[in-house]
Amino acid sequence: MSRPVFPDGFDHYFRAWEAKIGAFLEFSPEPPVCPLDPSVAVPEDAAAAVRGLPFAVKDNIAVADFGLTCGSKLLEKFRSPYSATAVKRLTCAGAVVVGKTNMDEFGMGSSTDDSALKTTNNPWDVSRVSGGSSGGSAAAVSAGIVPFALGSDTGGSVRQPASFCGVVGLKPTYGAVSRFGLTAYASSLETVGVLADTAERARSVFAVMRGKDQFDQTSVAYPEAKSSGKKAVIGVLTPESLAEALSAGKGGEAAAGEKLALLESEVEKSFLLTKERLAALGHTLVDVKLPSLKYAVPTYYTIATAEASANLARFDGIRYGVRPGYAENPEELIDKSRGEGFGAEVKLRILLGTFVLRSGFQDQYYNRAQKIRTGIRRDFDRVLSGVDAILMPVFPTRAFGRGEAGLSPFAQKAADVFTCCANLAGLPALAFPSSVENGLPVGVQVVGRALEEDVLFDIACAYEAAHPIARPAGYKAFWG
Ligand code: GLN
Repeated sequence: MSRPVFPDGFDHYFRAWEAKIGAFLEFSPEPPVCPLDPSVAVPEDAAAAVRGLPFAVKDNIAVADFGLTCGSKLLEKFRSPYSATAVKRLTCAGAVVVGKTNMDEFGMGSSTDDSALKTTNNPWDVSRVSGGSSGGSAAAVSAGIVPFALGSDTGGSVRQPASFCGVVGLKPTYGAVSRFGLTAYASSLETVGVLADTAERARSVFAVMRGKDQFDQTSVAYPEAKSSGKKAVIGVLTPESLAEALSAGKGGEAAAGEKLALLESEVEKSFLLTKERLAALGHTLVDVKLPSLKYAVPTYYTIATAEASANLARFDGIRYGVRPGYAENPEELIDKSRGEGFGAEVKLRILLGTFVLRSGFQDQYYNRAQKIRTGIRRDFDRVLSGVDAILMPVFPTRAFGRGEAGLSPFAQKAADVFTCCANLAGLPALAFPSSVENGLPVGVQVVGRALEEDVLFDIACAYEAAHPIARPAGYKAFWG
């Protein structure tokens, strides 16, 4: 593995930004040299685009000799003995890991404020969150510290922070990138994704990472690229569809729901502008409806918490994690380890997950959610049989503030409606910056057919060529 070439002045640039945004849990500009692995063959043309570039990795993705905290106290001291397949493929292509980024604990959250270890701020306005759960990766790319970073997307955790920080975020088709080395949160929903400074960069990184892996039985061989260069037919959710999807969040908590029953006006403005610009670029826009969208959030939180409660059962303080100073017996040791190690949001989700899986309740919650999930997938398949991609907002708001200026934990969950549906359906979704409104970036996303990421990249690259991505004040383009 080669060392990254850090340009003159980078050290000062990094320190100044990092002091303001706190994106990294660990940064090592002179990383340990990993031996090349002959079993990992990356095609030369794909490798060339990332060779010599530094990148950051969300701290729930394993990199040998770095920490793997998952943003949790429980794993604060844990070091990874091996690297995730996605990381290995990139390092074998000549890219270099320079650090691990902050995140909501175990990927549960939308702000990175649910990290037990550190606070991360948005490079556009440090009083606001960077989004989550891959908020550290998004902030690092947005500030120009690295040209790209890896994240994980279970319900929007790559796309939402990308939108908040004004960068590109890809959630690939389920199975397109190996999950080996990604700490499991909700296995049937999650993917390793990319946050990058440009759509073209995200495309190159994805080209290196994807493909079948013997260590992940859900990974698939990626077919020949589908890039056609043709103009696309893009389905756009009607205003009624958007309102219907958002109003589903109204029931639970009146005040929070009211706030979200509509898109924030800046987000709405940006969405309309994107439509106009895509039409001006020659794409055909047609109105579409996805009536199943209103069920996405409850379905997502039933399935995600059920899987989380099973996946997180491995953290018992015996094999990994904080070990209490004293315990009478193994049960007490496990109780104390989890009691001290897990944060409030993680405990809430484990409880919710064990509740929906309880015998006698499974039919009512978990099994029902699985059926609705199939319905959502069919709804997308129906629409995508007539269009190349579906244009949707990423999140109803721009980057939010903290305290009173923030969103309650309930409102944050209700706001996952436009992102978690692609995870439930297993489809690829690409978020890219659409415009800057009142000083903050806004993103949009296109959702496409399985294994047709290139169609989405073509749309985003053409948009970006006509409307270059804006950068936060103080940004310096080090990476070409
Ligand atoms: N907001 C979602 C959640 O809290 C995002 C999760 C994710 O994609 N890791 O579950």
